[in-house]
Amino acid sequence: MKEIAIHINPEYKRRVMSQSYVIVGDGIAGASAAETLREEEPDADITIITDEGEPLYNRILIKEFAKGKLPEAPISIHDESWYDDRDVDLELDTLVTNIDPEGHTVTAHDGTEYDYDKLLLAIGGTPTQLPVENSDAEGIHHFWTFQDARDIKEHIEGADNSVVIGAGLLGIDLAAITAAQEVEGKYLMRGKAWWRYALSEEGAEIIHEALRERDVEPVFDSGVDHFEVDENDRVTTAVDPNGDRYDADFVGIAIGLNFNTEILGGTDIEYDNGIYTDEFMRTNHDDIFAAGDITEFHDLILGDRAQNGAWGSAKEQGTIAAKNMVDYGSEEFRWVSSYSITHFDFPFLSFGHPTLGDDHVEAKYSDTEWRRLAIKDGKIVGGVLIGDLSPQTKYKKLMREQVDVSGQKEVLVKQDFQLDDLEGAAAEQ
Ligand SMILES: Cc1cc2nc3c(=O)[nH]c(=O)nc-3n(C[C@H](O)[C@H](O)[C@H](O)COP(=O)(O)OP(=O)(O)OC[C@H]3O[C@@H](n4cnc5c(N)ncnc54)[C@H](O)[C@@H]3O)c2cc1C
Repeated sequence: MKEIAIHINPEYKRRVMSQSYVIVGDGIAGASAAETLREEEPDADITIITDEGEPLYNRILIKEFAKGKLPEAPISIHDESWYDDRDVDLELDTLVTNIDPEGHTVTAHDGTEYDYDKLLLAIGGTPTQLPVENSDAEGIHHFWTFQDARDIKEHIEGADNSVVIGAGLLGIDLAAITAAQEVEGKYLMRGKAWWRYALSEEGAEIIHEALRERDVEPVFDSGVDHFEVDENDRVTTAVDPNGDRYDADFVGIAIGLNFNTEILGGTDIEYDNGIYTDEFMRTNHDDIFAAGDITEFHDLILGDRAQNGAWGSAKEQGTIAAKNMVDYGSEEFRWVSSYSITHFDFPFLSFGHPTLGDDHVEAKYSDTEWRRLAIKDGKIVGGVLIGDLSPQTKYKKLMREQVDVSGQKEVLVKQDFQLDDLEGAAAEQ
C-alpha cells in the first residue's frame, strides 16, 4: 500500500490541537495568566496548582483585615466556582516539589504528576526568617498569606505591647496594624531612617512622625540580637544589638522575601535571586515561563535585569506571560511599577526602582510633602512621592520613555513641575 505523508502546518496544529497549560501559583500573577489563557485558548486544558488552602485573594488588602478595618469577604477575589466556570482545574493544598523540563511534567508533594505542554511558574516568595535565637517562638509573626493575617489579627487584638522589625514596605504594614489595633509599640530599625535605600532622613522623618502620632516609636540604629521567651516558649522581650530591651508579647518581622526557587534545583532553568526571563516572560526553556515577584526579567526600560515586588506588575506579567505562551513574541512586558501606602493622613507612592540609580534629587515642600527621584545615566529610574502624588504621571512618562534629564534635576522637583519646563530633547517628549 502506498504511504501518504501528511504534513501539518505547525501554526494550524497549534490552533486545532488542544494544548495543556500548567500554572504553579494562584497569586495574582498565576490567576491572571489562567484568565488570559482561557480567553486566548478556549479549548486548552488549564491546571493551576497552589500550596495555599484557598483560591486567589487580594494580598494587598490582608493588612486592612489585620487592622480590623475590613471583614474577610471582600478580600477574596475568586471562589472555586470562578475556576469551574472557566473549566480551569484548581488544585489547592498542593505543593509542587519537582519540575522535569525534559519530560514536561511537574510533581506534587503527594507524588501526583502533571503533564504540560507549557508551564508557568508564578511562585512568588516566602518571608525571610530572622536568624536569631528564639525567632520561632510563639507570638512572633511573619506576614505574607491571608492565614498569616488571621493569626496576626487574633493575636494583636489581645496584645499589650509590640515590636516590629523590618524598615521597608511590609514592615510599615505591620507597624500600622499595631497602631490601628491601639497596641503601643516599638519599630526597631537598622540605620537612622525608615526605608533608607529609597528615602533620605528628611523624607523618612515624615513617616516617623506619623508613626509616633500613632504610638509607634521608631528606634534607630537598632534591630534584634535575640528574643527572650517565657516558660511556654512565648516571646516576652526583644533585645537589640546594643543590649536595649523591649517588652513585647507581639512581634512582627518583615525583613524581606526568599524567592521560592528551591524547586528549580536539579533543573537547568536559569535563576539567581529570581527566575531569569526575557521581556516575553520566557525562561531559558522554550516551554517554561515565569511571572510575578519571582521573575528577574529583562527590563526594557532599565536595559538590565530587574525584579518587581508589586501587585500591578505581577498581574501584568501574568497576562503578558499567558499571551506569549500562546503566541511567543506577541507582547512584551514594559511597565513602570507603583506601590502606594495608605496608612497615614497623607498619600505615599513609590514607583519604578527608587533604590537604584547613580544620582538623585529631592525636595521638601511642607511637613507632609516631599519628593525624591532616582536617576541612572541621566534618566529617571524611580522615585518616592509623599503628600502630593499629582506629578506621578509625568515622572512615570519620563521614565517609560527614557528621557534624558541630565542637568535638569532642579527643574524636575519644582513643586508644580510640568513636562514643558524641561529643556531641549526632553521637553519635546
Ligand atoms: C501584606 C502585604 C501587603 C502588600 N501591599 C502591597 C501594596 O500595597 N501594593 C503592591 O503593589 N503590592 C503589595 N504587596 C505585594 C504584592 O502583594 C505582591 O507583589 C504580589 O502579590 C505578587 O504576586 P505573585 O502572584 O507574583 O506572588 P504571590 O502572591 O506570592 O503568589 C505566589 C503563590 O505561589 C504559591 N507557591 C509558591 N511555591 C509553590 C509551589 N512549589 N507549589 C505550589 N504553590 C506554590 C504561593 O503559596 C503563593 O500562593 C503586598 C504584599 C503583602 C504580603
